[in-house]
Amino acid sequence: MLVVTDTIALSICLMILVWVLFLEQNMQNLLLVQEDITVSLSLVMDYLMFSWIAVWYFSARKSSIHLGSRLLSAALVIYVVCDIYYYYEYLLTTYTPNTYVDGIYVISFLVLGFGAAIKVNAKEETIEQRDSYQNVKGQALLLVIAPILIIVFKGFLLEYLLILVSIIMLYQFLVLYIQRNILRDFMLEEEYKLNHELEKAVEERTKELKELAYQDLVTKLYNRKYLVETLREFREKLHKNEKIVLFYIDINRYKMLKTIYGNQISEQLLAFTGMKLKNMEAISNSTNTVLAMYGEDVFVFAKMGQFSEGEVEALAGEIIEQVSTRYQVENYEIMISVNIGISNYPDDSDTIEKLISHGTIAMNRARIEGYNKFQLFDHTISACVLMNNRVELLLKNSNFDQEFYLDYQPQVLSHNKELVGVEALLRWKLKTGEMLSPAVFIPIAEETGIIVPLGYWVIDQVFRQMKEWKLHAGVLLPVAINISAKQLIQKDFVEQFKALLTTYGMNPDYVEIEITESIQLEANAEIKNSLQELKKLGISIAIDDFGTGYSSLYYIKHLNIDRIKIAKELVDHVVEDEFDATIIKSIINIAEVGNIAVIAEGVETKEQWECLRDLGCEQIQGYYFSRPLSYDTIQNDWLLTKQ
Ligand code: C2E
Ligand code: MG
Ligand code: MG
Repeated sequence: MLVVTDTIALSICLMILVWVLFLEQNMQNLLLVQEDITVSLSLVMDYLMFSWIAVWYFSARKSSIHLGSRLLSAALVIYVVCDIYYYYEYLLTTYTPNTYVDGIYVISFLVLGFGAAIKVNAKEETIEQRDSYQNVKGQALLLVIAPILIIVFKGFLLEYLLILVSIIMLYQFLVLYIQRNILRDFMLEEEYKLNHELEKAVEERTKELKELAYQDLVTKLYNRKYLVETLREFREKLHKNEKIVLFYIDINRYKMLKTIYGNQISEQLLAFTGMKLKNMEAISNSTNTVLAMYGEDVFVFAKMGQFSEGEVEALAGEIIEQVSTRYQVENYEIMISVNIGISNYPDDSDTIEKLISHGTIAMNRARIEGYNKFQLFDHTISACVLMNNRVELLLKNSNFDQEFYLDYQPQVLSHNKELVGVEALLRWKLKTGEMLSPAVFIPIAEETGIIVPLGYWVIDQVFRQMKEWKLHAGVLLPVAINISAKQLIQKDFVEQFKALLTTYGMNPDYVEIEITESIQLEANAEIKNSLQELKKLGISIAIDDFGTGYSSLYYIKHLNIDRIKIAKELVDHVVEDEFDATIIKSIINIAEVGNIAVIAEGVETKEQWECLRDLGCEQIQGYYFSRPLSYDTIQNDWLLTKQ
């Protein structure tokens, strides 16, 4: 826009200059020029050339004009001025050859040559147009040259000066007007840009907030909400022959770990576990999958596509292998085990809700089989497996005296099968007559805290029955009682224990407590204290399931252990697995040095018994010698007959 204004203003001023200076306001001169076709053509060419250069020069940003271009335009301007002057003299017939006019011609050609030489070597230049709201001040000053020239050469020609001044003023006015419009457009554009940026920022923030809303704060994995929404999306996208397989991965005894190690460490543990899962190749490298945190200690991994049952089982096995391991969290080494329940849509679940709940049911079923087991859902298990919350409800409403009782499993010397004691094992018979395994209800009792009153009931019952045996069979039989860590961290546990000992007038030398080795006992000061206090009372302490969990020689040295119970998992393979046999042998050797008794549990065969006996294991417990027996059976078959 400004270029057009410049061109018009400049052309008019030039025309006036030509009319006043060159043609001397004389129509005759114009006719003279017109008569000579070469002269008029040359002059028109000069005029066009000059106008073009002037407009180009003014409209370009000065800083961006290349030196070559500057020289070229300067040469042309010199040429044009010289040419006009030549024709002026020529027409007035005052021209004499070989004067300074010819010299100027030569100079203009020389400059032209220089300019061209420089320009050829320069890169392509782009000239920015002046159509911006900056850099336009003082352009009108250039036009002022025209009236000055008239005054210098012809004196005060009022009418022409008036016309020129009017043009300059009009020009200035127009330029200002256009500039303002450009400025407004520019501002509008800026505003639009700002708005656009703002919109983008808002969009990003919304996305961030959305991500936060979908994120589990502890593990930084997706949360339950995201999982459910993604599963719904999967269902919409599902092709024929495809299915969604869901792995419900539950961390065993998480609440217990939290009680022992505190929130911070347990949460770090969860984050590590989540990371381990996330980094698994089968999980990170496949599309159409989702990994999320479902509950406090439950991860869910789901996958959409076509898979065989074999592939699904292989993946479950891989997950267990990867996740169930020791984690180093700050100063603690913590062992994690999991159970996985697997369900699939649409084969065994017709809604997303069922897909998840069937995963939970299958997981609970897997837990009955033991830690680090997985289970595929099928409709028969949902009927017989009680879900956690049902068990919890039943536990809360149970009457200990009516529904619970104890069985006792004999413990014998390996060389002569002589009875040395029994282990008290809790049994739960529901009012309906259904039996529930301790493997199912003990973890729930621990998580809900019911294990505390239930545990006191067990101790009470054990002391009562020991007293009865003594009364009826004349034998005070040593009894081992399973105690969970949750009980040990109760502030008044030792006091209550002592009170029960006193109530029954019990000799503490005949009482042993078994603590399972699935947690790092020394990590908790209360547990350590309780154990020391109990020891002071004269109670023996045994470490249960030794050799699979947190086995550490530290226990033996610092916790003043009386007996080690070698885990069934090790006993299972002692006959054929040399490695397991070696571990057992080492445990026995170390125990010997520390003067600690060793008992192997879960001995089921003659071969195992012989093997353990030969390895130097003095005591044995297991189905091979006896299953857990009722109070009466112990009294009649073991105490009365074998006296
Ligand atoms: P645990 O203390 O390691 O007890 C040994 C478990 O192995 C018992 O299972 C016992 O019946 C079983 N067992 C013994 N010999 C054999 C064998 O030769 N083969 C096989 N397959 N199993 C054998 P049970 O009674 O089901 O108890 C499971 C767990 O529940 C116990 O493991 C213990 O940790 C816990 N528990 C049982 N009673 C109590 C209790 O009164 N309080 C607490 N806190 N936990 C208890
Ligand atoms: Mg035990
Ligand atoms: Mg055990």
